Amino acid sequence: MMMTGVLAITAGCGQKKSDFKYLLDEFADLKVMRYQIPGWDELTLQQKEYAYHLAEAAKWGRDIHWDQNCKWNLPIRHTVENILNNYKGDRTTKEFDQFTVYAKRLFFANGIHHHYAEDKFFPECSQDYFKSLMVAVGEGDKSAELLDVIYNPDILQQRRSTSTDGDIVVLSAGNFYEGVTRAEVEKYYESIEDKTDETPIAYGLNTKVTKDKDGNIVEIPWKIDGMYGPAIAKICGELKLAAACAENDIQKRALGLLVKYYETGDLKIWDEFNIEWVKDTIGTVDFINGFIEDYNDPLGRKGAWEGYVNIKDHKASERSVILSANAQWFEDHSPVDPRFKKKECKGISAKVINAVCLAGDSYPSTPIGINLPNADWIRKQYGSKSVTIANITHAYDYAAQESPTSTLDEFAWDEAEKSFYREWGSWADEIHTDLHECLGHGSGQLLPGVSTTAMGEYASALEEARADLFGLYFTADPKMVELGIMPNKDAYKAEYANYIRNGLMVQFTRVELGRPNTEAHMQNRKLIAEWCYEKGAKDNVIEKKVRDGKTYFVVNDYEKLRDLFAQLLAEIQRIKSEGDYEAGKYLIETYAVNIDPALHKEVKERYEALNLKPYGGFINPDIVPVEKGGKIVDYKVVYNDDYLKQQLDYGRKYGAL
Ligand SMILES: [Zn+2]
Repeated sequence: MMMTGVLAITAGCGQKKSDFKYLLDEFADLKVMRYQIPGWDELTLQQKEYAYHLAEAAKWGRDIHWDQNCKWNLPIRHTVENILNNYKGDRTTKEFDQFTVYAKRLFFANGIHHHYAEDKFFPECSQDYFKSLMVAVGEGDKSAELLDVIYNPDILQQRRSTSTDGDIVVLSAGNFYEGVTRAEVEKYYESIEDKTDETPIAYGLNTKVTKDKDGNIVEIPWKIDGMYGPAIAKICGELKLAAACAENDIQKRALGLLVKYYETGDLKIWDEFNIEWVKDTIGTVDFINGFIEDYNDPLGRKGAWEGYVNIKDHKASERSVILSANAQWFEDHSPVDPRFKKKECKGISAKVINAVCLAGDSYPSTPIGINLPNADWIRKQYGSKSVTIANITHAYDYAAQESPTSTLDEFAWDEAEKSFYREWGSWADEIHTDLHECLGHGSGQLLPGVSTTAMGEYASALEEARADLFGLYFTADPKMVELGIMPNKDAYKAEYANYIRNGLMVQFTRVELGRPNTEAHMQNRKLIAEWCYEKGAKDNVIEKKVRDGKTYFVVNDYEKLRDLFAQLLAEIQRIKSEGDYEAGKYLIETYAVNIDPALHKEVKERYEALNLKPYGGFINPDIVPVEKGGKIVDYKVVYNDDYLKQQLDYGRKYGAL
């Protein structure tokens, strides 16, 4: 049953054909989903074993991230786990339900602060009730201290303080600094940083800053015999097992360096690891493991612990290879003036991956694209890896379709439009993005003497429009079916209808009422949709309909809409190639900026009534070794559907601190 879902995707159909359920749970402002791992069964046993140990290494870092977020997080989690696992009282009451919601939020945020807003959130059940639960599981003695941390609004207010007048180091509840002020920390790093070094280490990335008993500033390193030692030892153990079954020597060397770094805390070795890691572009299995992003630190130094294991999506990566290989064909057939076409055109092929395990800072809330390493000098000298994560994007799409309310249901005109989008929309949208990224931006050329900065402040919106139009035009081309990229000659219509609906209405849900449309991508979409609506009006290409006081925009003629896309692409290419600033300005100011106030208000109201959860996160599938006669013969993927159970299992299995 679950396999059908995997096959449906890898077989090249975007539509959801199985009853694999993506959306698992919704509470507060959060939703929890799950994802599939297409391509897992095509891995060799060795690759599976490699991915398995990398995933184990990722999960062993969980407690580190909890403690980094706030030093009270682990004690609170342990208590909450104890209650969920052992409370024998009535679990059907409203208050127990409120307690459970708090627990789910705690697990989602990896601590007591909201994962995104970073403010402390509170249980809806009373403090007395929470205390009674603690007493019931034998933790009454801890209740005064822990419940004050949980309920008192005046302490530990923000994980990373955004205060403009207070000391952001002192006020942050995160566990990167203790007993030190911002000025002391800054002075300390000032004193040890070598500003002349052109290949500087990431000073302070893997330490906590505090004072010794004599009042001197000291750094406590996060390493195998330092802070977080027990968790790091487990991580290293799994990394060594992974190295033994790596796909190639680069991966082996990289893992060896990573272990050495965890053993020594030496940031020079961390850089050496990253340089090796960037070089591995041939392997199918890849990973992130370490103290990575510094957003959680008010001073932007300390790396949040993160783990990520992924495999290359050969099918999707291959699609971008096919597009790139045919770049010249697309350039030659693009509907723009031949003077503005490139004589020699090369596409860009992007790597597409599928997540296998999310951990630490990437779990449950996770990015849909990754670009690492962070050190500027390594990026310049050795490059970086930039990837999009296909299975996570898919899961978002499918989960949105499973939700009882959706923008599609609210803003699409009729059932035919909705079901057609459900069948092909996700697929067609992805192809459009591929065309935009692989070919759109790289197409066309400037006339001799025209400056690359000629379009001034309108440059990015116009450039996005150019790439989008290139994609829209070719999404509908028979060539796409011929190349085996588009499944049939009509699927593009799902993307067209969606693009117009979004450009003319849905996207304004994100703009504050009374404000103009200012973000470049949103301007681009409004420009295209609005221009086509106006120019196609005499032929009724896009029709504005009103039903029960609600506005809809319906595409009546897809062929003509494609012609309009072609005309606008030709015009925007001309504007760019000739550097016609005034014409570019005219397009943006006429079509992209001003939102009809009545429509804007209507859209906002309709959206709010949908009550959609703004933040999403995922649970991981389990990777389970299959034994036969004392030997591991396979690793199979098991898709769980219980969010709380996974959190409690992780607490039992990977509780290192
Ligand atoms: Zn773009």
